Amino acid sequence: MIKKILNKSTCADCKTCCIFDCYDVWETPLFDKETADVVKLTVPTAEFAPKGNGFVLDFGKMSAYDLVKCPALSDSGCILGDKKPFDCRIWPFRIMEHDGQRIIAVSSLCTAVFEQSHDKLKDFLKNGLAAEIFAYGEKYPEAIHPLYDNYTILLTESDIK
Ligand code: SF4
Repeated sequence: MIKKILNKSTCADCKTCCIFDCYDVWETPLFDKETADVVKLTVPTAEFAPKGNGFVLDFGKMSAYDLVKCPALSDSGCILGDKKPFDCRIWPFRIMEHDGQRIIAVSSLCTAVFEQSHDKLKDFLKNGLAAEIFAYGEKYPEAIHPLYDNYTILLTESDIK
């Protein structure tokens, strides 16, 4: 979904967004039942917890030093391919809430995207993806998180109306 601004090989070399510590475990994507079932069939040890209409990964209790990888991450990348959760397909963009408004923000952890001109990123989003992201938030409010420290606001919902 964001291939125009993020090269596939850059992602393949990084995988930061598929590995979590106790501070960013809230970033785990929201899976629908079908996708969670595919992961569980392939990786029977994968644990999920229900969240709203979907499921999130459940890594149990984590210490400050733990690093855990998404069970769908294999040596050759995400086993889900193009069927990966919407949150993964749009990361480092996220729908968040700030001052009572829904916003789209970008994570500074993905330097390959974050270091691009933010005006260019806004134009990219306004060209269709922003509407899709806000529609996703409408359907899955459980995917909306409060604005987090390492995220920068790019658009509010009213910017695309
Ligand atoms: S579902 Fe795939 S892309 Fe998403 S966090 Fe897991 S391994 Fe990464």
